[in-house]
Amino acid sequence: MVQTVVLASGNAGKIREISEMLQPHGWDIKPQLDFFDSEVEETGLTFIENAILKARYASKKSGLPAIADDSGIEVLALQGRPGIYSARYSEDMYGEATSDETNLQKLLLELDGVPAEQRQASYYCAMVYVQHANDPTPIIGLGRWYGEILTEKRGDGGFGYDPIFWVEEFEKSAAEMSKVQKNQVSHRTQALNALVMQLRRGA
Ligand code: IMP
Repeated sequence: MVQTVVLASGNAGKIREISEMLQPHGWDIKPQLDFFDSEVEETGLTFIENAILKARYASKKSGLPAIADDSGIEVLALQGRPGIYSARYSEDMYGEATSDETNLQKLLLELDGVPAEQRQASYYCAMVYVQHANDPTPIIGLGRWYGEILTEKRGDGGFGYDPIFWVEEFEKSAAEMSKVQKNQVSHRTQALNALVMQLRRGA
């Protein structure tokens, strides 16, 4: 039997990626926009808490089981900042005009003068499934992708911090990697794989 799940995201790329992974296992992924057009406040202090908040909200609004993810970048020299605030990192400087570009520029500025060997960072993703809005046992998949923060941008693919995220294994920035390459190793793919493994077991 096909199991319909709502995905708590408006991002077309994410919806396609997650659908492609779950469809072969009998899951039908519906975007949240099919049901509602609002967002829950991300008040959690961790990626996991925020992903759970988003999944519960989507499930409540749609009446269906829901999947949500929350992700960001953690920089060692900044004690893990920007972390859960990655999408709004430069809000203090740019307010409404905050964008991927202003966030990335703020990070470069914060790391100005920090030597190469202290520029380690990682992307992190929490992917959560809830059966219903009050599900006491959400299923959680986690992923972490290690790299280093460059001193200037390289490449024009990807999004967010990708042009300054150096991936040693590929000798490329994440923005220079092809979509296929990124999807083989990214934090989101790792988290989704971990989630799918548990869903298939019927956890
Ligand atoms: P969200 O998971 O869409 O809420 O993303 C949170 C923020 O983390 C994004 O706005 C980006 O700034 C950053 N981020 C998360 N994943 C990636 C990635 O794969 N590449 C670049 N930036 C990312």
